[in-house]
Amino acid sequence: MGFDVAAAREAFPILQRQVNGKPLIYLDSAASAQKPRAVIDAMRSAMESSYANVHRGLHTLANETTDAYEAARRSVASFIGAAEGEIVFTKGATEGINLVAAGLGARLQPGDEILLTEMEHHANIVPWHFLRERLGVVLRFVPVTDQGELDLAAYQDLLGPRTRLVAFTHMSNVLGTVNPAQRLTEMAHAAGALVLVDGCQAVVHQPVDVRELGADFYVFSGHKLYGPTGIGVLYGRAAALADLPPYQGGGEMIAQVSLEAITYADPPHRFEAGTPPILEAIGLGAAIEWLKGFDRQAIAEHEQRLYARTLEGLAGANWLKVIGEAPGKGAILSFLVDGAHAHDVAQILDRYGVAVRAGAHCAEPLMKRFGVTSSARASFGLYNTEAEADAFVEALTKTQAFFA
Ligand code: PMP
Repeated sequence: MGFDVAAAREAFPILQRQVNGKPLIYLDSAASAQKPRAVIDAMRSAMESSYANVHRGLHTLANETTDAYEAARRSVASFIGAAEGEIVFTKGATEGINLVAAGLGARLQPGDEILLTEMEHHANIVPWHFLRERLGVVLRFVPVTDQGELDLAAYQDLLGPRTRLVAFTHMSNVLGTVNPAQRLTEMAHAAGALVLVDGCQAVVHQPVDVRELGADFYVFSGHKLYGPTGIGVLYGRAAALADLPPYQGGGEMIAQVSLEAITYADPPHRFEAGTPPILEAIGLGAAIEWLKGFDRQAIAEHEQRLYARTLEGLAGANWLKVIGEAPGKGAILSFLVDGAHAHDVAQILDRYGVAVRAGAHCAEPLMKRFGVTSSARASFGLYNTEAEADAFVEALTKTQAFFA
């Protein structure tokens, strides 16, 4: 089917704006992607024409809003090959991981092991540290090679009889590495461990089928997937979700409440206490339906071309150090400029209208692994063009001249 970037760009009103007198070149989609009109319109139209609280009402607007909210759940489910009841709406990937950690924590013993990797986002490290602090659970970390891949032999060795859970990122937000999620999952299951996959970055750039993957839990955030903030997804295999105790208590997550006792609703509602992010779920559903209109493989190839073109443009730059060179990696370029702090690089690039991220990318252990405290990061989205990749190379070359 191919991918027409010019047509796709038309859907994003924000791409019309200028920054510092230059056309915006947005290379920070790994932090948060821009929103197509389909998302903006769906949320506005819900507020303008059919809004009420969900699941509680008997009136028309409540029923319509409930239908829209549950339709969004079905959109998510079909997007990743899950059943509707396996999709829990959260406020983001971070909340999804905290939910699973809190639930599993109720069953773990001191000395039980959780296996993570050195390339995790803090969202997939800190909730597990809570269990270390509170329960005496032991955290282990799969090392990362110089190229930015997981050391699979070390992974095999680290899997042991006390490993209760393996949690790893499907695609690194710093290195761009795409981990062999299916294989890692099979190895973890063979060792008797549950598996949680952080799909925040991967789900944006490649088709994901949770059944094929086989993981017990898969989390991601709406705002990186061209949807709104304040909404995320926790997929849990039906049996794995059914096994998990509730996270927060409140309305909607119960079956019955009396002064003496409570019983809980079945998943997914057991995990959606209180009024959920209704408009945000509708917005995420719209983002996914919009994305389904594209050949996602063609989008991935487009993004790969942008990445390759950028690297080619920077090929002779002896002042540049790239972090993360795993084969098959995604379109995320983390880099250092000789003699320059990453923050300064980002600020000067902004003068040219180029938006990149700089810092530790919420991955301090990984930065330490590569002997740095920060890097700059250019991350590509479906709306970026070859001309933008070239303009970025030119702006970066000019930026470097400030430090030469
Ligand atoms: N994991 C990865 C790999 C990420 O890139 C991010 C966002 N930077 C997160 C988790 C956390 O996502 P959120 O802040 O939306 O919960």
